[in-house]
Parts: sequence; structure tokens; C-alpha cells
Amino acid sequence: MPGELHSIIKRCRAEGLRRTVALEKLLTTLIESSRPMTLAELVESPLLANQCDQATVFRLLQRLADKGILRRLGLHERAAYFTLIIPGEHSDYLICTHCGSIEPIKAPCPVHELEKEIQFTTGYRNLYHELEFFGTCPACAQAG
Ligand SMILES: [Zn+2]
Ligand SMILES: [Zn+2]
Repeated sequence: MPGELHSIIKRCRAEGLRRTVALEKLLTTLIESSRPMTLAELVESPLLANQCDQATVFRLLQRLADKGILRRLGLHERAAYFTLIIPGEHSDYLICTHCGSIEPIKAPCPVHELEKEIQFTTGYRNLYHELEFFGTCPACAQAG
């Protein structure tokens, strides 16, 4: 786990981001989370709760997204989820268009072979993807 933090901090430094306590705590929280997190969840998380305000966390998230360190998922700005981009690792997601909930798909990646083929035929390197499937989650379907 610390190795992962170290390598992400290195990527941040390479992108010109200053290493601050807030940055470290934000990255640690995202590394330790098993799923993408919203701004509200991050602001209330144990490491960040007494560390920085919502505006600071939001600015950091935007800069990290701009630099390709993390990625915004979900329907719109207000219900956005944030997840780290880690080379060689990815998830594909299911997103509910009613409540905005999000969960990683537990099935094997459906386009893994396609990605390898595209890399082979185009000569592109460091290809990655993350799929988002949209629909109505079981809880919303039942309520609706
Ligand atoms: Zn739902
Ligand atoms: Zn995939």
C-alpha cells in the first residue's frame, strides 16, 4: 500500500503538483477505498474530515483529474465519483441513472481482448479504458 502511494505521488510531482498533507491524505483515502468515492464521501472520510474544507478537496480533485491521476465517473458534476487511474488496473462500472449509485462490475472485462488487438493493430502504447454501463439499479426498480 505505501508503495502504491509513493508511485502516485511521484506521478503527481512529475505533473507539477505540490506534495501537501491534503494531497497525501486524499490519495491514501482513494487507495484504501475499494470503490470510487464522491466529493461528499471524501470530505467526510476520517483522514480528510479535520484536515481540509470541501473547496480545498474539490480543487485538488479537479487538478488531479486534469493531470490524469484520477478520473471522474458518473452522471454529472453533482453526483460525480472519483477513482484513481492506476496503470495496468481498471474496473468497468454500473451506474444507476435514478439514484446515481455506482458499482464495479465483477465479471471479467468484456473488452480485454479487443484492447490487446487494438494495441497490436494500431501500434498505440499504454492503452486503457473504463466502461460505464447505465441503467436502473434493483433498489430503484423496486421503488419505481
Ligand atoms: Zn438506483
Ligand atoms: Zn474493462
